[in-house]
Amino acid sequence: MLQIPDHKIPIIEINTDFDVRIFIKREDLIHPKISGNKFWKLFFNVNHYLEKKPTNPLLITFGGAFSNHIASVAAFGKQFDIPTIGIIRGNELENNWQKNPTLSEASENGMHFLFVSREDYQNKGKLIQEFSEKYPDALIIPEGGSNETAVEGIRYMLGNDTKDFDYLCTAVGTGGTIAGISKCAEQYQKVIGIKVVKDDSLQKSISEWSGRNNFELIDAGESRYGKISDENVRFINWFHQEFQIPLDPIYTGKMMQTIFDWAEKGFFPKDSKILAFHTGGLQGIKGANQFLKNKGRIQINEYP
Ligand SMILES: *Cc1c(COP(=O)(O)O)cnc(C)c1O
Repeated sequence: MLQIPDHKIPIIEINTDFDVRIFIKREDLIHPKISGNKFWKLFFNVNHYLEKKPTNPLLITFGGAFSNHIASVAAFGKQFDIPTIGIIRGNELENNWQKNPTLSEASENGMHFLFVSREDYQNKGKLIQEFSEKYPDALIIPEGGSNETAVEGIRYMLGNDTKDFDYLCTAVGTGGTIAGISKCAEQYQKVIGIKVVKDDSLQKSISEWSGRNNFELIDAGESRYGKISDENVRFINWFHQEFQIPLDPIYTGKMMQTIFDWAEKGFFPKDSKILAFHTGGLQGIKGANQFLKNKGRIQINEYP
């Protein structure tokens, strides 16, 4: 069972010249391998499942080749000695996944893979059906770990220490995290989601999970999902040097750069207090650098 960690998660002020104050909450420090929002999204899903004492426990989930969620589920399986299966998008990986840092670490943590074509992956309903017939005792967790139960776990990212902020910001992939923040925010707080994926159904699914309309989605800009721009890599390297906080190139790097852009543009009223959640994802840096290196592009400075 996952336990609520007893170490305090720090909130750090980022000193800038903007006329607003920007802070970052280091949820990436919640667990060394099940990082940030993925920890909280798994929290009730796996605990409710394990409370039922399944005879043949097994976790099955979905993700892309660099997925933080896949890495987290594999690490969870290893920690609690539970077998895991990852259904991975892209059957071209079938024979060379060993070179992918996320998948090779997941495999070391005991995860087994099924590689499926993009079409079959789109058609998850059929896969879920097949797997639940084959493994009736298994817990099948959706892509990115987002469902109603996951949204409940996000409440632990908020507390007395987050009440004093006007804006709560997070990167948005499948929307579970922002839905949880929206659900638990104070009346006076505004929730901002930085979208790193083009998905027109997000507004609707977040509203349904949250039941509130206190959130706004903004676009991370031309650096779209899966795309890493040199400009963003430079920002991430600068940010680390300046503030000693590592960011990942898929979510938190884009979030912080977008917050900086919008602060500069005057989107936030003067003297606003803005809290950004560092949702983790640092395991993705290795894979991103491998890709950037192959293209002869600027890479992210890696940290010990
Ligand atoms: C998965 C992930 C997100 C997005 O969370 P959703 O709940 O899918 O919107 C944000 N940041 C990081 C680091 C992630 O791994």
